[in-house]
Amino acid sequence: MVFTKKQKNDDVAIVIIDNPPVNALSTSVAEGLSQAIQTAENDTSVRAIVVMGAGKTFVVGADIKQLEEMAWARSSGPPRLHKLLLQIEDCTKPVVMAIHGSALGGGLELAMSGHYRVATRDAQVGQPEVNLGIIPGAEGTQRLPRLAGVEKAIEMCVTGKPLKAPDALAAGILDAIVEGDLPTEAINFARRQADTSRSVTKTRERKPTLKVHSSIASAMTAGCELATKTKRHLLAPSRAVEAIGASMSLPFEEGCALEQRLFEECVTSPQCRALLHVFFAERAVTRIPGLENSPSAPIGRVGIVGAGTMGTGIAMACANAGLTVLLKDSRLEAIEGSRSTILRNYENSIKKGRFTPDEGTQRIARIVPQLTYQGFETVDLVIEAAFENLELKCSLFRELDPILKADSILATNTSTLDIDVLAAYTHRSERVLGLHFFSPANVMRLLEIVRGRSTASATVARALEFAKRLSKIGVVVRNCPGFVGNRMMFPYMYEAQFLVEEGATPSQVDAALKRFGMAMGIFEVDDMAGIDVAWRVRRELGHFAEPGIRKPLVADKLNEMGRLGQKSGKGWYLYDQDRKPIPDQEIVSLIRSLARENGVRQREFNDDDIIERSLYGMINEGARALDEGYALRASDIDVIYVNGYGFPSWRGGPMFYADTVGLDKIVERMSIFEQQHGERWKVAPLLRHLSDTGKTFTEFDMVRKV
Ligand code: NAD
Repeated sequence: MVFTKKQKNDDVAIVIIDNPPVNALSTSVAEGLSQAIQTAENDTSVRAIVVMGAGKTFVVGADIKQLEEMAWARSSGPPRLHKLLLQIEDCTKPVVMAIHGSALGGGLELAMSGHYRVATRDAQVGQPEVNLGIIPGAEGTQRLPRLAGVEKAIEMCVTGKPLKAPDALAAGILDAIVEGDLPTEAINFARRQADTSRSVTKTRERKPTLKVHSSIASAMTAGCELATKTKRHLLAPSRAVEAIGASMSLPFEEGCALEQRLFEECVTSPQCRALLHVFFAERAVTRIPGLENSPSAPIGRVGIVGAGTMGTGIAMACANAGLTVLLKDSRLEAIEGSRSTILRNYENSIKKGRFTPDEGTQRIARIVPQLTYQGFETVDLVIEAAFENLELKCSLFRELDPILKADSILATNTSTLDIDVLAAYTHRSERVLGLHFFSPANVMRLLEIVRGRSTASATVARALEFAKRLSKIGVVVRNCPGFVGNRMMFPYMYEAQFLVEEGATPSQVDAALKRFGMAMGIFEVDDMAGIDVAWRVRRELGHFAEPGIRKPLVADKLNEMGRLGQKSGKGWYLYDQDRKPIPDQEIVSLIRSLARENGVRQREFNDDDIIERSLYGMINEGARALDEGYALRASDIDVIYVNGYGFPSWRGGPMFYADTVGLDKIVERMSIFEQQHGERWKVAPLLRHLSDTGKTFTEFDMVRKV
């Protein structure tokens, strides 16, 4: 795990951490490292020590499984590194940390205990713990401000964003960037230090500094503002600010003790448990029974049909991943519009420094807008992204099938329509599936991969590879109206509309949802997606066609009035030029008068009422989708909602959230709703069963073992 590379006459010992895949700091790595440092220190022929990682990287964090044990109080968690870090720092010989790949979390904390840090130019360093709801727990909050200054330390620990090597050098975290072979250069660096320095500088003995603010109080206030801006609702960022602030006023040891207390508060918090759940859930999605070891030929060329909002976004997502894209539309204006969106988008990215102008030019060149199917016979995958109309999509599938290579995949980006119906219009139903991207498709990480009745496992495996290539999270679901994500959105959206009919307002419902942590309110979402789009979906899927069920009163009216949402400047809200939603009294009056005409009883609502009514129906539908096998795992649903629907990751997704509320409590509330509002609140059999047997969705996943 940890070994030392040293020839007889070498005066520099190289200690190598070898714990694949990312050299995480497990208990045995910490022990091995301690012994190796001890041996090198005792060896009189050694004048300096270099510590490196084997394989692709230095050290990335602690073992997250161990962290999970700690979060659920099943163990004391990852090893305390205090003694090891002091041992390294107190070593009488210069210790040089040689970084390639990443030094993240515990990796950077380890690196900071060395006397010097050198790195390759493409390396990165960071404290991303906040993404798991914790603060650095191995003295990072005390050593980082001593190297980089308080403000930089706060920025890094609050945002969790890593620094590239040149920025880390400028910040004072690194001492040098090496251009040649890292071990050779690190040894040379170490030898120079042994030659020149009389005694080594210990990081913990440096003074933390303020580089921007004149007082620690103002630096901390700015840190808290940054936390609110970038990680609203999260506990960990403010705790990180507190711990880093203490580095100015407390001696190192006391600062470390405070950090430990704050770390423990964070790691045992519900937020940390939820974020760890999402972390593992995102890694579980690719485990699909029957797909293990399915060989999958990579996708190189992609055809897209429909150069509208989605087609354009998907084209950019593909071009960003280095794929060639033929982007076909039937209308010249659409092609031109798409082209200017693409140019504008890449220009912005270049301005923001995301990539170089050259790289931008290459990406643009990979997208070929066209009015014909020319070249489609060469593509490995076609994604149809034309209007959401079954008849149109059927005719496109029939048209495309004979043009494509025999082994090409024919996919649709439909949000709701039946994949099996489309597959029946081809002779390749085993290579037909849904690839449901989310808007904006070049940004959103979720890709719902919809498996039809005849879709072959090899096709699903190829689609998962494709998602990975696009740096997206592919979640495999089965084919039903709305698949899993939108199927659960329907009760959510309709219930919110019933709430406003009963006396709430759109802005009140949205505010409650945002306080809960949703990225957007549901009425804002409806306006963004288009009131007409939702209207068409209701019609296509035959929602509310059955007599006797409660039908929302307002949405159809908005559609009739041409209040189509953001695109027409008004929908549930009014919109200014910046597309900021402004509550509209006219809409509130319209809602009230429609409610009156239809005899809907009015009442007042608080946040709890709104959250329960909006989310429990969604969770109930999730339980049904899970029970019926449309979703493979409850945790897959959580991944879909966190990555595609703005559900707060720190609540773990809707199903995990339901577990934390208590399924019995949810069933109890739903039974009351059923008495008040009827059939639509009928508890799903799986939810009822889990509640009756005192189980959770998480336990359901564990028993299913997928
Ligand atoms: P859009 O109206 O912006 O674009 C549709 C494009 O398809 C238009 O440019 C149109 O000219 C083109 N088109 C129509 N018929 C065609 C034909 N026969 N051949 C070639 N091109 C044709 O629509 P959109 O929002 O991009 O949606 C496209 C699909 O993606 C729909 O199925 C929709 O349900 C789905 N979807 C949309 C979103 C979203 O948020 N907009 C999200 C997920 C999925």
